[in-house]
Amino acid sequence: IERTYSMIKPDAVRDHKVGEIISRIERSGLRIERMELAEVTAEQAAANYHHLADKPFYENLIAFITSGPVVKMVISGSSAVAKMRSLMGATDPLEASPGTIRGDMALDVNSNVIHGSDSPENAEREIKLFFGA
Ligand code: ATP
Ligand code: MG
Repeated sequence: IERTYSMIKPDAVRDHKVGEIISRIERSGLRIERMELAEVTAEQAAANYHHLADKPFYENLIAFITSGPVVKMVISGSSAVAKMRSLMGATDPLEASPGTIRGDMALDVNSNVIHGSDSPENAEREIKLFFGA
């Protein structure tokens, strides 16, 4: 059994989309192991997006992810990382297939509704970062 870290981003919490997103995750067969509504700290944001620090959209990204509460989740299941990524769809909602969370629920790449870890190693790192050891 593999674990992944996911979070419902501030745009979706603000727009009352939490229930629909959780339903999609549960219907996929993945299991929600932990879940918490909380704000992302500046330190957590910087650590989570360090790979994008030199991008022109970085400041926007940090401002967005710290702009209001998110729903932090530990999700488990067989191939949970890849399964969650396919459920989410492409980073840019314009390229995300219909039927995916971003394809159906997001309008632009700056506020794309949900985050999911991109590897099992990063998943364990992000679970520690957001839920503590
Ligand atoms: P996430 O980490 O949020 O699950 P991802 O792994 O699909 O998304 P990353 O490359 O890790 O994509 O980018 C993190 C976030 O940075 C994206 O979710 C998006 O909001 C933002 N981002 C990525 N690329 C761009 C871009 N070209 N323009 C604007 N924002 C971008
Ligand atoms: Mg990513």
